[in-house]
Amino acid sequence: MSKINIEDETINIGDVWKSNEMLKEDIKGKIEIGNFDITDEAVALKKLTSTMHQYTKIELKLPNDFIAASREKAEGNDISFEEYLRNRLSGGISEGEQEEEPAEEGVEEEEEEEEEAEEQEEEEQEQEEKKEEAEEAEEEEEEEEAQEDEENGVRPDWDNEEEETAVPQQIVKVRCHNCKRPITITSSERPITVTCPNCSAKGRLEQ
Ligand SMILES: [Zn+2]
Repeated sequence: MSKINIEDETINIGDVWKSNEMLKEDIKGKIEIGNFDITDEAVALKKLTSTMHQYTKIELKLPNDFIAASREKAEGNDISFEEYLRNRLSGGISEGEQEEEPAEEGVEEEEEEEEEAEEQEEEEQEQEEKKEEAEEAEEEEEEEEAQEDEENGVRPDWDNEEEETAVPQQIVKVRCHNCKRPITITSSERPITVTCPNCSAKGRLEQ
């Protein structure tokens, strides 16, 4: 990549700084003597021209102390004073001092958008937490119910999944032929083999 000096409007080609006019002269000179190897000059001329089209020279009065401080900082960064100012004004370097107004507005807008996004995220998270809490409460309730059933001598059914899928539910209470404890059958499947949750004795329920 060839370097371009924005202030001088020159491009570094073959270790020499050439202006637009100089490159045109070089190309013309080469063609006149029958040397058509002008690719480097043509490429450099195109690059210099298109680059300079992106810049406009303006006059700008700046405070003397700001200029002095900027010159020092430019030296510290090993770049030209103009290059330093250009970077600084276009947001490339921001050291200490406040940015130009338009840049600040742009930054604020971005921040606001970010804040909005964050707020939305927080809200979503809260809603999710509430949902989780509700689910947990429901689970606890179910557990309590199950515990109550157990205390009343009714064992929870031994196939929870079936309880949820078997519709309509047909709750039948039978007594274990072995230990005589009540067994609750919530499955509507018939015939069904029932295993006593207390003594593991197996029985068959036809209807
Ligand atoms: Zn039993």
